[in-house]
Amino acid sequence: MTRKWTLGISVAAISTVAAILSARLLFAMPGATPQASQASAQAYELNDSHFHLTNYVQEGTNIHDFLKIMGSRVGRVALFGIPLQQMWDKGNTGDFAPTYYLQSDAPLYYYSFTDAFIAMAYRSLTPAERARFDPMITGFNPADMYAADHIRRVLLTFPGVFSGIGEFTIHKEFVSSKIPGKTASLLDPALDRILDFTAETGLVAILHNDIDMPFPKPGQEPWIVPQFRDLVRRHPQAVVIWAHAGVGRIVHPVKDQLAMMERGLANPQAKNFYVDVSWIELAKYIVATPESTGAMADLINRYPDRFLFGTDEVAPADQASYLKIVEVYQPLFARLTPEAKQKLLKGNYERLFDEARRKVRAWEAAHVK
Ligand SMILES: [Zn+2]
Repeated sequence: MTRKWTLGISVAAISTVAAILSARLLFAMPGATPQASQASAQAYELNDSHFHLTNYVQEGTNIHDFLKIMGSRVGRVALFGIPLQQMWDKGNTGDFAPTYYLQSDAPLYYYSFTDAFIAMAYRSLTPAERARFDPMITGFNPADMYAADHIRRVLLTFPGVFSGIGEFTIHKEFVSSKIPGKTASLLDPALDRILDFTAETGLVAILHNDIDMPFPKPGQEPWIVPQFRDLVRRHPQAVVIWAHAGVGRIVHPVKDQLAMMERGLANPQAKNFYVDVSWIELAKYIVATPESTGAMADLINRYPDRFLFGTDEVAPADQASYLKIVEVYQPLFARLTPEAKQKLLKGNYERLFDEARRKVRAWEAAHVK
């Protein structure tokens, strides 16, 4: 028997109405479906905050195949291509067709069609499948004052699709110097315009920015550090995820990198600053020794809301190659508190990207004619 309130409405009736209302709300949000809530409730191991569907020649995994590769292990994925195309210059590599930036001296160029490609791949999915992806805009030149206009145009052309921008790059070993024309810079007002626009719309930004130049001489000033710090401080309303903490194949952590990261995380002017723990190249520094693993784990345990796990895999062919990085990071995961591990692997992704979906859909509703 149901309990009667003094107004004569049964608790059962109220909960039925509440269920209908919440289902309506769920349906009213593009990108969110009942399946989406089931997806987050299911026992997926992780969400992937950093994934490239296509490679440096804009080829990759069919998104329907990729869903099978995610399988029952990965719940949601921040989905992007690569903004740069490696040119095949026959005068340079002859008949060898390079697919990676390290395979040729020929230049890279910005390939804006990647955004349409990602949007169309996403739109080829069912609503339930779409709920597992957060597509990102990458096809802009961050040294161009018009870059923010490109991002805006993509939102207006493909409403209901994108949750963020990136991974886009300012400083990256080997890559930055292969792009002809004006060099991207943290000091560039074009970048400020981009982050102003992400703050306005709620788009999450995943930014690759090496923390230092390759092979610095002993004592060489790490001039990127203060520039990066000032950029984040200038944009307290923009959500910035720092891709793999700014290290790479040969760019090593700077001296006292963890202390520097902690200063950034503790800064009240940088509350929207996050770090993604992704890429095999970052893992090699973190799990190098028990001491390095422990130091990183301590930092994540102290700031559990500020780190996201990502694979940084490019166009994987199967689940084993896609998720081998999860094994590499096990020593780190083992030293996290249960709360920090849950947030790193799933919770922070859901919080940031759910918020981005909500804000960007509202911005689109107000601007798409
Ligand atoms: Zn990446």
